[in-house]
Amino acid sequence: MNEETTPLALITGASSGLGAAFARQLAARGCDLILVARRREKLTALAAELIKEYTIHVDILPSDLSGEAGIHRVEERIRVLSRLDYLINNAGFGLAGEFIRQSMEKNLAMLQVHCATPARLAHAALPGMLAHGGGVIINVSSISAFTPMAGNVQYCATKDYLVTFSRALQLETHHQGIKIQALCPGFFHSEFHTVMRANKKSIPAWLFMPADEVARRSLAALRNKRVIYTPGFLNQLVVFVVRLPGLGNGLLTLFARQIARRRRDFLKVRE
Ligand code: NAP
Repeated sequence: MNEETTPLALITGASSGLGAAFARQLAARGCDLILVARRREKLTALAAELIKEYTIHVDILPSDLSGEAGIHRVEERIRVLSRLDYLINNAGFGLAGEFIRQSMEKNLAMLQVHCATPARLAHAALPGMLAHGGGVIINVSSISAFTPMAGNVQYCATKDYLVTFSRALQLETHHQGIKIQALCPGFFHSEFHTVMRANKKSIPAWLFMPADEVARRSLAALRNKRVIYTPGFLNQLVVFVVRLPGLGNGLLTLFARQIARRRRDFLKVRE
């Protein structure tokens, strides 16, 4: 990484939740920032807060990453940068319910935001990072990558893509100073469950971490050689258990049934 200039980070999904938490923590470390998401007013407010608190430059780049124009705008911005030290592919959303009950439009949007965008932005960022001898790419996946579940088909599949993409990309680039992390958090507090209209109460509160804690642990874990990083002992235990042959699948089925039952009750109450 270039140590003579102020480091620069581009964060997608920076208008709330984990993306905003990454922005605050990197700002506190003296990083200049480019903040990407659709909601301009949220990005403007966060940029104003950070500029007031720290001596850094913050640019906003409002873009819809589910469409060609938005992705292309961010790619082009990356290509003209003289340097980029951190690319944080964090933008994402959930879809509640069975695969066939969701429109194909929403399914395709998820593929764009969770898979095509991170790949295209990494492809745009890597030449510059390699030229400067280093850089960090964090791809925000989820423990859902290891827990395929009914009612969460496309989400689990796209998050699984990010894990495999990160592992393979790290193999190609580790000897050139590039650090790739597939961040696989469990539940944490953000707008995520509100946006997908999920019943947050169906998930035990003690399973949720603060978003700041997830961002802090992710950045600290960049020192490790591992590509996949799951913050929190409990989440690490969940991933370990569900990957056990036989037992893991049985537990997953039980958990998925429980969530589906609570969700049905929730929808009945809302109607
Ligand atoms: P959040 O508060 O809802 O934030 C999601 C961010 O993604 C927002 O800034 C949103 O901004 C942006 N975004 C969504 N669709 C977009 C689009 N089409 N174009 C551009 N930006 C878009 O949720 P979060 O929990 O912080 O989510 C961050 C990441 O963590 C996601 O990838 C999510 O899958 C992952 N994750 C979350 C949890 C959890 O329990 N919360 C657990 C594991 C993994 P705009 O709406 O302004 O566009």
